Amino acid sequence: MNILETENLQARHGLLEAVRGVSFALAKGETLALVGANGAGKSTLLRTLAGAHPVAGGHIRLNSDDVTALPSHKRVSRGIALVPEGRRMFASMTVAENLKLGTMAGRKGDWSIEKILEIFPNLKKRINSKTGHLSGGEQQATAIGRALMSNPDILLLDEVSLGLSPLIVDRVYASLGGLITSGTTVVLVEQDLARAMSVADRVICMLEGRVVLEGRAKDLTREQVTEAYFGLR
Ligand code: ATP
Repeated sequence: MNILETENLQARHGLLEAVRGVSFALAKGETLALVGANGAGKSTLLRTLAGAHPVAGGHIRLNSDDVTALPSHKRVSRGIALVPEGRRMFASMTVAENLKLGTMAGRKGDWSIEKILEIFPNLKKRINSKTGHLSGGEQQATAIGRALMSNPDILLLDEVSLGLSPLIVDRVYASLGGLITSGTTVVLVEQDLARAMSVADRVICMLEGRVVLEGRAKDLTREQVTEAYFGLR
């Protein structure tokens, strides 16, 4: 069964049509990478899925229920969690306090602070540090951990690599690998095509708000995705 479906989804910034009729379906446990050039509409699509940006048309279905009209907090309660671009941490709160915020949605599940520390062991010694004092990689781990603490069925990750050194990006992705194999459905926006194709089951390439290429990562070549990325197909 599909856990997430969009049908002709549209979103705007004022007059600008940032997402122009996007339809896709995602099965439980799949990892979908959204790729595309700057301004293609990836972040707007992700934020629209999370309810952080208004829907201008079309539908979003979660476990076959239409959630298009639900505000973001109700979507979190239904199992969609967003890790926004730029991490948006509460800098004066500790890692533990930030992680506990994730439980406010009241969803039951297996995630606990102990389990978060298993996938992000570098946070152990920082658990009582204020997040404003952490490195970029530690902040990213905290942001992902906070989202996981809401026990999501679907985790939406917006450019987790942004502003991190290549070494730290490797660590964050190594940790995500464990998460992905644990069966969580993941939708991620990733600028790095090679990384996106290596981590994802499915790839959607966007151009000017539209889906220009969609397929299983193992069936697509780098050339096909690169051509779609630059609008050459
Ligand atoms: P990037 O990788 O640069 O974040 P993206 O594919 O995620 O790109 P979006 O950020 O969704 O693309 O932007 C889609 C379009 O909407 C772009 O033309 C962008 O300039 C515009 N846009 C995004 N945010 C806003 C905003 N807050 N106000 C007005 N226009 C916006």
